[in-house]
Amino acid sequence: MGKIRIAFFDAKDYDRNSFVKASEDGEFEITYFETRLTERTTRLAEGYDAVCVFVNDDINRQVIDALVVMGVRLVALRCAGYNNVDVEYAYQKIHIVRVPAYSPYAVAEHAMALLLTSIRRIHKAYIRTKDFNFSLNGLTGFDLHGKTVGVVGTGKIGRIFIDICRGFGMHVIAYDKFPAEGSGIEYVSIDELWQRSDIISFHCPLTDENYHMVDANTIAKMKKGVVLINTSRGALIDSEALVEGIKMRKVGAACLDVYEEESNVFFHDYSNHIVDDDTLARLISMPNVIVTSHQAFLTEEALTNIADTTLQNVVDFFSQEYCKNEVCYKCPEVDTCKQQHNTKCF
Ligand code: NAD
Repeated sequence: MGKIRIAFFDAKDYDRNSFVKASEDGEFEITYFETRLTERTTRLAEGYDAVCVFVNDDINRQVIDALVVMGVRLVALRCAGYNNVDVEYAYQKIHIVRVPAYSPYAVAEHAMALLLTSIRRIHKAYIRTKDFNFSLNGLTGFDLHGKTVGVVGTGKIGRIFIDICRGFGMHVIAYDKFPAEGSGIEYVSIDELWQRSDIISFHCPLTDENYHMVDANTIAKMKKGVVLINTSRGALIDSEALVEGIKMRKVGAACLDVYEEESNVFFHDYSNHIVDDDTLARLISMPNVIVTSHQAFLTEEALTNIADTTLQNVVDFFSQEYCKNEVCYKCPEVDTCKQQHNTKCF
């Protein structure tokens, strides 16, 4: 086979830098498109072997059908989560590969950075001292030492976040659909986690089952003043219920690296525009809410790993019978997924 042709969607400068460096050996012909992959932009993939996409590209049924008609054989996600791909519909039509881990440290450390910024009011202090305002009024925080943190999802990122929290002398409890036996983690039911936690951090994938797991009902079960940290996926939290929870003084602070409607705004500069999303605007206006725009992954180490693994996935797919980072909707069922038996998913 000649050069593998890749249509690269939602390309940012930092993506291009890391992928240009990782593809220097010339095995690939990569075209970088700034636009996201949607029904309207799919035709840009005409003549390519693979598309490379990120968290807010929408790989729905129409996009999958169009890619298949054009002869595109592979969707290479340059991220871990694949909730933006209709994997069930893609089965037996187009293959999906992803980067299961690139730097779990990047995300876990960002979660702690958000927490510390929020509870020690660093975001406020930074702006004040820039304006030579050295007053301390309104900047009172609280110690993390001795507080109970509830971690939802104890995979790669969740466990690193747990280690960081333990370093601060916090008491850690956790909920996971598949608890890790012998891990020394204190697992509790999700209701107990809501009730006992001073701080709750989300590190599980978004699935149909946990969509809006934080809503008005669950917020009612939480401690008054609870701090919520979401570096996972926005739709784990019902944003309007969060706004209400903050207005009622039930939720003490929210640290959000993800937002359920983020695909319309995140990664773009709207500083000269009126943002149409009233819920996001309300959240950003609140002094106890910090929003970063899906930035948790963004470290040098993570970008290098993402580029290296994505391109290796593409090479493996086109040159071998098996690609260890392929995903299909059957993968969780060990007995039915062929990929578990060292072959492609279909
Ligand atoms: P992982 O697969 O290693 O761990 C996920 C954990 O969640 C597993 O232990 C799994 O058993 C658990 N889980 C699955 N369904 C659950 C449910 N319904 N309730 C509770 N727990 C459940 O994944 P990871 O690498 O630790 O990543 C976690 C999430 O972080 C990803 O799914 C992704 O959404 C998010 N992420 C965000 C960024 C960012 O830049 N903000 C970057 C990478 C990953």
